[in-house]
Amino acid sequence: MPSSFILKTAALPPVERLVRRSFLFRPLVRRFIAGDTLEEALGHSESLCDRNLQVSLDYLGENTQSEAEALAAKSTYSQMLDRIAESRHREKINISIKLTQCGLDQGEAFAESNFREVLRRAQEKDNFVRVDMEGSEYTARTIEMLTRVWADHKNTGTVLQSYLYRTTEDVDQMIELGMRTRLVKGAYLEPSSVAFPEKSKVDEAYVEQAKRLLARGHYPAIATHDEAIIRELKQFVADEKIDPSRFEWQMLYGIRRDLQDGLRAEGFNVRVYVPFGDAWYPYFSRRLAERPANAFFILKSLFRK
Ligand SMILES: Cc1cc2nc3c(=O)[nH]c(=O)nc-3n(C[C@H](O)[C@H](O)[C@H](O)COP(=O)(O)OP(=O)(O)OC[C@H]3O[C@@H](n4cnc5c(N)ncnc54)[C@H](O)[C@@H]3O)c2cc1C
Repeated sequence: MPSSFILKTAALPPVERLVRRSFLFRPLVRRFIAGDTLEEALGHSESLCDRNLQVSLDYLGENTQSEAEALAAKSTYSQMLDRIAESRHREKINISIKLTQCGLDQGEAFAESNFREVLRRAQEKDNFVRVDMEGSEYTARTIEMLTRVWADHKNTGTVLQSYLYRTTEDVDQMIELGMRTRLVKGAYLEPSSVAFPEKSKVDEAYVEQAKRLLARGHYPAIATHDEAIIRELKQFVADEKIDPSRFEWQMLYGIRRDLQDGLRAEGFNVRVYVPFGDAWYPYFSRRLAERPANAFFILKSLFRK
């Protein structure tokens, strides 16, 4: 089952209603989502930190429908930063946010002012805010906003997606700026006019861009669960004598816990992306699309009498 088919099917309102309401899928949802509330997610985050891992906490939600919704999200971000500051593991937990949750669809100036406020709060708490990368209609605006804000706030960083044709240039721009960059393959449904349709091309671009970031970037985050790629990059790091303190691996909550612990045991920094909140459906669909076996389980259940 191709991932584009899964993303399209998952976006159909009747499928969303069924998956949201059925208790049958709860265990699969719980595997990827660390709870509905901040307190639940913090509990899971602290357990991960007890295992010597680090965390980026994500309040689920994207594409706010009104300014009020975006302001409510901003206030949750502030609460997250306040609660993290009280945690015994405060140095190990930062946050990831989305600009469309700051109100980008309601207006660029509005979103930027919300984003800047979150960064000021994070600065007060000595914390860091990663801006997730969304669909390609937002890529240029996200990079432009981050670059503007960078002049005043250095406690932020970006995400670049290797499936986009433009990304090698963006990687070079981020290296030049000295901005922390998380490299991912990319999780959205994109047309072949902007993104490689072939997985092998995405993987090839990923390795090449990761090597650039590892060699010349400022504390890059290599975010993948791809064992072959991790093996190749570990070899590169050893050959180039890159100190493990100069970068981190990142993985998603609930995926390849064995790899997370294994890399940590080898002395690498490993950060786990921990999502929480009740707006879990779009995030959950992207996780299904990455692993057709997960989606197949759902489809089979839907058609079983
Ligand atoms: C920390 C982090 C942050 C991210 N942030 C963003 C972002 O801001 N924007 C964005 O577009 N994407 C983001 N992603 C998602 C990313 O783009 C990929 O879709 C995702 O990481 C899967 O790609 P992969 O590199 O693991 O490789 P793949 O080739 O997809 O997978 C390699 C192996 O990983 C395992 N695996 C991967 N996904 C799953 C899954 N869902 N369930 C079970 N096993 C799985 C399987 O063993 C698979 O064989 C993020 C990923 C991580 C790890």
